[in-house]
Formats: sequence, structure tokens, C-alpha cells
Amino acid sequence: MDRRNFLRTIPAAALAFSGPALLNNSAAKAAAPFAKYQAPGFYRMPLGDYEITALSDGTIPLPLDELYRETTAAHVKEALEATFLKLPAMVSVNAYLVNMGDRLVLIDAGTGPLLGPSLGKLPQALAAAGYEPEQVDAVILTHIHTDHSGGLMFDGKRLFPNATLHVNKREVDYWLDPAHRAAAPEAKQNLFDEAVASVNPYAEAGRLDTFGDNEGPIPGFRSIWRPGHTPGHSSIVAESGGETFVAWGDITHGDVLQFDEPKITIDFDEDPAQAANSRKVAFAEAVEQRYWVAGAHIAFPGIGHVRTDSTEYDWVPANYRAG
Ligand SMILES: [Zn+2]
Repeated sequence: MDRRNFLRTIPAAALAFSGPALLNNSAAKAAAPFAKYQAPGFYRMPLGDYEITALSDGTIPLPLDELYRETTAAHVKEALEATFLKLPAMVSVNAYLVNMGDRLVLIDAGTGPLLGPSLGKLPQALAAAGYEPEQVDAVILTHIHTDHSGGLMFDGKRLFPNATLHVNKREVDYWLDPAHRAAAPEAKQNLFDEAVASVNPYAEAGRLDTFGDNEGPIPGFRSIWRPGHTPGHSSIVAESGGETFVAWGDITHGDVLQFDEPKITIDFDEDPAQAANSRKVAFAEAVEQRYWVAGAHIAFPGIGHVRTDSTEYDWVPANYRAG
């Protein structure tokens, strides 16, 4: 279609509105400041009778060359550069809201105020997507790490006052036990303190509910126990109309290296060998069952599919849809 034909398809009122700016050659050349921010991040997709909204908590620059294990810094740098990524690599923190029609269920809660100003944006994303935190009926965590549970609390208050918090029992037993904190390296003890600060208020309000390995956290949802990253780390599964959506939590950090080389672990893994094994199982199942995968640390919205390729596995992001 040439420009003239294209213009014919635009309503006259729209043309009249945009006309002066298009035709005026003396348009302002005033300097405008760089904005350096994005619109609050949300992305919707249907899943059978459900509607899923991916929510961006923000991004964090991570020195993946220093954090990945079972590899070398030089190899990480080379592999990332081959996909046009620089170090430190920008890594997304995502959460997923499932609207079941009669209930709102949030999978993971972002970082809240705990990890700096490039993160903690889930409340803005939620508001931009048209929801109030008070509307959320249930929050299910893939695990209790700060970047998944920190957003449960803001200003000393439960952000989701009407929600019950659901998490694998192993997570509560591990992160809320002072004995485990005392046994942890000093650099990781803050994770235990933050877990207590984020989860305990829900327990004290009678709004903490634990589920066992591979048990459904709430009716309509399944969980798949995929330990290693943390003891009770679980993928959370929503199904409707024959479609399956698996929020797999921290099976990968990033969407390049650990797909090509699933053996690569990360400093955040509690049991690296177990985490690598869980990743292999998760990849194989996602390929075989061809379901939707949502990754907490895959480039926002972090929704897509997994396929095999010449270098083990490959992440295929969802094709954008405007509505
Ligand atoms: Zn995480």
C-alpha cells in the first residue's frame, strides 16, 4: 500500500488532528530531557477461560560472568556477546496474575522495597493493568527468595491484605528457621531476615497456608516440586480450556546460557547439583508437553515456549499480541 492509499484508510478527523504537526516545518527544536524509563510493564494473554497478566517488577543488572557456576567468566562473556548482550546483563523480575473469572491469583510478588529503585515496580504495574492489591485473593510463591516475596510488604503493611499466602512447606521450614540462618554464610543471612519480614506478617494474620511437594496450592492450581535453587522451589501450574501455563520460577536466570548449557548453575542456588537436575527435568517436560512457560527471570514478559536445538535447548518468546 503506498502512502496515498494508506492515508485514505485513516479517518478524516485523525488526519485533521495530526495535519499541522506533519506540515509545519517550523516545528520546535527545543531540547527535551531523556526520560530513561518505561511504561509500567504488564502484558496480557488468554489461557482458556482465564486471563493472565504478566507484571514487571523491574530489571536488575547482574554480573552473570561472576554469578554463573560450572563455566568460566570468559565463556559467559563470549556467549552473551554472541546474542548481543553486555555485562552486567539486565535481568527481569516478573510476576504473573491469573484472573480465573471469579478469583485473582498472583504468582510471586516481586522485590518490594528491598532491592533498590530499578525494582519494586510491581504495584505500579498492577495498577496500570487495572487492579487494586486488595482484589488479590491468593498469592502463590514459587519460593521465598527476596525477589519473589519482598513485594508482599510495603511500609510495614501487607500489600495484599485480603490474600492468603501459599508456599511449599519446605520453604517456610527452611527460611523461617533461625537455625538455618545461623548455619548459612554471613553474606546470605539477610535472605533469612527478609523472608521472616515478608512472610511472618501473613502467618500472624492467619493468612499463611503451606502445600506439600507436588500438591495443588489452591483449587484449580497444581505445583511441581523442582528443588535445588531452594529446598521447596516449585513451578506453579494453571490450566484452563486445555491450555497449560507453567510459572516455573527460577529454573533459569536469563534466557541464553542456561538453555544452551543446562549444567550451568548460579550462585543463588542452595543445592546447585539438584538445581541443575531440576532444570533438565523442567526443560524436557516443557519440550514434550509444548505448554506455556513463564520465567521469573526471563526478559519481560518472560512468557514463551521451550524447544530443542543444536545447543540443547532454546527459549522462544511469545509473539506479541496487542489484545
Ligand atoms: Zn528469583
